[in-house]
Amino acid sequence: MQQRYDVVIVGGGAAGLSGALALGRARRSVLVIDAGEPRNAPASHVHNYLGRESTPPGELLTIGRGEAAGYGAEFVEGRVASAEKLPEQGFRVVTEDGRTVEARRLLVTTGLVDELPPVPGLAARWGREVLHCPYCHGHEVADRPIGVLATGPLAVHQALMWRQWSDDVTLFLHTGPEPTEEEYEQLAARGVAVVDGEVTGLEVADDRFTGVTLASGRVVPREALVVQARFVARSAVLESLGLKPVAQEMGGAVIGSYIPTDPTGATEVPGVWAAGNVTRLTEQVIGAAASGLMAAGAVNGDLTVEETRLAVAARRG
Ligand SMILES: Cc1cc2nc3c(=O)[nH]c(=O)nc-3n(C[C@H](O)[C@H](O)[C@H](O)COP(=O)(O)OP(=O)(O)OC[C@H]3O[C@@H](n4cnc5c(N)ncnc54)[C@H](O)[C@@H]3O)c2cc1C
Repeated sequence: MQQRYDVVIVGGGAAGLSGALALGRARRSVLVIDAGEPRNAPASHVHNYLGRESTPPGELLTIGRGEAAGYGAEFVEGRVASAEKLPEQGFRVVTEDGRTVEARRLLVTTGLVDELPPVPGLAARWGREVLHCPYCHGHEVADRPIGVLATGPLAVHQALMWRQWSDDVTLFLHTGPEPTEEEYEQLAARGVAVVDGEVTGLEVADDRFTGVTLASGRVVPREALVVQARFVARSAVLESLGLKPVAQEMGGAVIGSYIPTDPTGATEVPGVWAAGNVTRLTEQVIGAAASGLMAAGAVNGDLTVEETRLAVAARRG
């Protein structure tokens, strides 16, 4: 690890690696600091990534790291604790174990944390049979008995959505709101069963999810359970620079929090960009990679403007 880089990228998932690849190809010195906990780690495969459909998540990242390293990007394992603006120019980045490095620009791609409903046993099945994203997992559980756990007003929409993949969908009202008359009619018309009462646990046999237990003691057999996770941006590094997360609403519900940026990923702090799930909560892997590329282009453009300004000043003497 050198003392100073053109760009330090905090987070080495799809967004960070895509940024590192583009900046390496732009002949910038780049360091990626990564804590090694990508959001989709519990999933067995990445779907809807054109050209690499159904690749294991770790394999896709290994390929990406190799591609970026081929253009000179450097990598260190570690978790960034904070970053600060230097009095003259650039930033100092500090890792949790006390290492420091300086950068002319920062690209923060730290992703988000999925906060799951607090049902006992649910977190252990996350990414296997406890699911949130029909485009990530729908095809793999097609035609199976699917449950949808209501914890907010989006649950009816989720149930109607997952009906595209299975004609055996049950909506568990759990702690969600009572559906409206219109929603009950929609659910009935699409053949979605509705079960009242709180879900208190998950049934597991031979390391497979087999159903949910209700407070009444009734067990309803299911093979997949859809939940609404709360998407919380991993924003500590950006917050240490003075940025604040804001709530994101969808369909009348707050689905999480993110750090706002402009379309190129520029934050309100000059010199600091963000890309991927930390700023776009619903972005999938290919979208996170695309936003990392977009930010990398903007960072390189910004450095070019600065270098040109300094060159003109030097030429004028
Ligand atoms: C179970 C599950 C399955 C999914 N399946 C799919 C799918 O099939 N297809 C699809 O397109 N999308 C899928 N997704 C969504 C996908 O995970 C995200 O779109 C993608 O991971 C976003 O990429 P990212 O680079 O923004 O963040 P991440 O991939 O989460 O990468 C962020 C990286 O930053 C690191 N980091 C965080 N904080 C710090 C810090 N302070 N210092 C250093 N490093 C840090 C993390 O450890 C991590 O390595 C799935 C999500 C889940 C939860």
